[in-house]
Amino acid sequence: MPELPEVETIVKGLKKTVLGRKIEDVWSDTPKITRVFKKGEMKSDFPGFKNEVKGKKILKIGRRGKNILFFLSEGKILLVHLKMTGHFLFGKWRMENGKQKSLSKGPLAEDPMNRFIRAVFYLGKEKQLALCDLRKFAKMELWDGKDLKNSKVFSSLGPEPLSAGFTFKKFKDVLKNKKGRIKQVLMDQTVIAGIGNIYSDEALFAAKIHPLKRTFSLKEKELERIYSAVKKVLKQGLDKKGESFSDFRTVSGEKGEFDSFRQVYRREGDPCFKCKKPIKRIKIGGRSSCFCPKCQPES
Ligand SMILES: [Zn+2]
Repeated sequence: MPELPEVETIVKGLKKTVLGRKIEDVWSDTPKITRVFKKGEMKSDFPGFKNEVKGKKILKIGRRGKNILFFLSEGKILLVHLKMTGHFLFGKWRMENGKQKSLSKGPLAEDPMNRFIRAVFYLGKEKQLALCDLRKFAKMELWDGKDLKNSKVFSSLGPEPLSAGFTFKKFKDVLKNKKGRIKQVLMDQTVIAGIGNIYSDEALFAAKIHPLKRTFSLKEKELERIYSAVKKVLKQGLDKKGESFSDFRTVSGEKGEFDSFRQVYRREGDPCFKCKKPIKRIKIGGRSSCFCPKCQPES
């Protein structure tokens, strides 16, 4: 699932390609992906979505947690959550035998992960933005700016870990009285926004903290190490344009380069780069966690 570095990489790509353009039309063969928030309710409604989005200009593009925000004309906001396998691609497609086929060369046409086109925004002058999503779990929600600001899902998001306001004091504040395991607490979007399985595993390795440690039991020194590690691994992920073990791709259809820099994530059984002990994998609350039993001792 794309996390902060992957989503931010996409946002940067979108700013370079679709910012300022007008949405002339939308196509989708997966109506459940598009939703409209109206009269206090979120409803799957492709005709309504298409009708409202058509003619709107993309004025601003941003990110909050793992959400992409397209600020459109007339106060509308298109909020996109990529979920498991979603990513945006900028190029040109044409319908052939009931499927969107890429007319561009290179990874957009050749990488099989870029072939699951579920929606296309037509942006004029033969420019198109496509949502590619193998698993079809992505969500594109159209909101009125005011409704989104007041929405529970949006206002409950925790602080942005790479923002200037995310100081060590702030970090300690949001972790205060948290009873859960540190791995789960780091992935909780209401505690800190944007961290998922990959970067929580990597941060805990960098901080030499066992993923099962209870958050309230962590000492000041340990908290300091986690705080620095979170920032470090997220920045590194962003520098390398995200991970691409599976399906994440940049807006031009290319893979990120973080894969060769990871220390523990999806390395079960492989030797730790620091101590050579095999990396272990455990389940915490239904999610996998990879760690080095020697570098990250339990006590
Ligand atoms: Zn180790």
